[in-house]
Amino acid sequence: MTHFIDSRLRDAALPFWPDVASVGSHVGGDLVIGRGATISVNDPATGQLLFSYADAGADVAAKAAAAAVAGQAEWARLTAAGRGRMMQAIARAILAAAEPLAQLEALSAGKPIRDTRGEVAKVAEMFEYYAGWADKFHGEVIPVPSSHLNYTRREPMGVVLQITPWNAPIFTAGWQIAPAISMGNAVILKPSELTPLTSLALALIAERAGLPKGVVNVLAGFGHSTGQAALAQPAVKKVVFVGSVPTGRLIGEAAARRLLPSVLELGGKSANIVFADADLERAAIGAQAAIFGGAGQSCVAGSRLLVQSAVYDRFVDLVAQGAAKIKCGDPLSAETEIGPINNAKQYDHVLSLIREGADEGAEIVAGSNGESTPGGYYVRPTVLKNVTNTMGIARKEVFGPVVAAIRFETEEEAIAIANDSEFGLAGAVWTTDVARAHRVAAQVKAGTFWINSYKTINVASPFGGYNHSGHGRSSGVEALYEYTQVKSVWVETAAEPAVAFGYAPGLRE
Ligand code: NAD
Repeated sequence: MTHFIDSRLRDAALPFWPDVASVGSHVGGDLVIGRGATISVNDPATGQLLFSYADAGADVAAKAAAAAVAGQAEWARLTAAGRGRMMQAIARAILAAAEPLAQLEALSAGKPIRDTRGEVAKVAEMFEYYAGWADKFHGEVIPVPSSHLNYTRREPMGVVLQITPWNAPIFTAGWQIAPAISMGNAVILKPSELTPLTSLALALIAERAGLPKGVVNVLAGFGHSTGQAALAQPAVKKVVFVGSVPTGRLIGEAAARRLLPSVLELGGKSANIVFADADLERAAIGAQAAIFGGAGQSCVAGSRLLVQSAVYDRFVDLVAQGAAKIKCGDPLSAETEIGPINNAKQYDHVLSLIREGADEGAEIVAGSNGESTPGGYYVRPTVLKNVTNTMGIARKEVFGPVVAAIRFETEEEAIAIANDSEFGLAGAVWTTDVARAHRVAAQVKAGTFWINSYKTINVASPFGGYNHSGHGRSSGVEALYEYTQVKSVWVETAAEPAVAFGYAPGLRE
């Protein structure tokens, strides 16, 4: 059955699927069309139908597991250096396809083209970075106090399931695929049902660059059906989930029942703390980038703006004035700074939380009043003033361009407010007092913290959450611990080994 594909989208997809009849999964190098319920995806910029396709379902998930087992066996036979060279070739292929990939991401996910160009470049960087690690992350020799040689081996997990959200589809795919395959794993990636296209394109690009078929498989489908079916596959030995807290809880529970190790990268409600002694002009630009970048659809968004009382009114005014100037519009225009919200459900969620904030007594000093507007799912950058940390708008993740400005008096109070949250993904402090900056950085409970900066991330630096923002780490060398398991090997080297019962003798000598 052929499903609907918008003609602009068909053109954007041409470099990847010259003869695409429909959207399907990428399994063992083949396009596999699902037979499940129809999934309809609207264009975030217009609200009109963009494409539809059939949910992959359990049969395709089982095929992906079989393909991944075969792919992993072939991939792990390669030398580590050979895997690194292959990943360098993939990085070059991504750069060669960078513009069509960025266009496809902008059109299908509603993200500004200036953002998607940067994100595609970062995906190439991820493959380069982990290509370098492929033959450098290995076991070691342990100097045990006996006649034994004891060494460790870092072995792949085998087949890893990765489930990702819609806010940064290709970035998140590269972020998780690159470290996984550098260590010899095969991957089953289940992107959001709303944004499968660039993950599918990435798998194709990698195979055209020479990656064996079956090493990267992408399932196009719903989470509750296809995602759960993938999670139930006995071949899956680890699950890495990026998404919301409620879904993370479901995945964590299902993984625990199977005794599967998991990494959970979940949501946030990060505190961006501005002291009166900060460079306020710079901090205001930082505060806008922190929350309005990506239309606030960023897990690390600085959605709680904590401002010291003495500069509260002045600073919130600065941020509100800046918010009013942000260019919000067509994702494909190079001028656009922020695009629409990705989907209708999320659009309604963002608007309802703005209205809830106003009902709770917050003052809207810039942006949307929570009413929907015709056309696409656009929400103007919105600033809510006089928010207290007990209001819903300060506690719930909005995942939209909405900042809640909260007043504080002292450093202790700022830290207490920052930590009074179920989340713990990120945070920042703006101050010219170096000692205070480090005191605050040490005390805020979050996996990433910035001083006089916001949202800088790099593939070499670890990333992950405290509290309900998740567990386990992505990026940097930390991700390689997640994507390997360690084996300890003992070799007797004594000429005349002692016969012993219980534990071998000599370990305490
Ligand atoms: P979501 O939790 O609704 O969905 C994420 C993924 O899980 C999708 O692929 C979805 O299909 C799948 N899924 C849903 N139900 C499932 C089920 N029952 N079984 C298996 N899979 C299932 O999240 P979303 O709305 O797509 O994304 C937004 C959320 O992601 C926000 O909370 C945001 O903070 C979070 N996020 C976190 C990070 C991070 O690194 N910490 C990064 C980006 C986004």
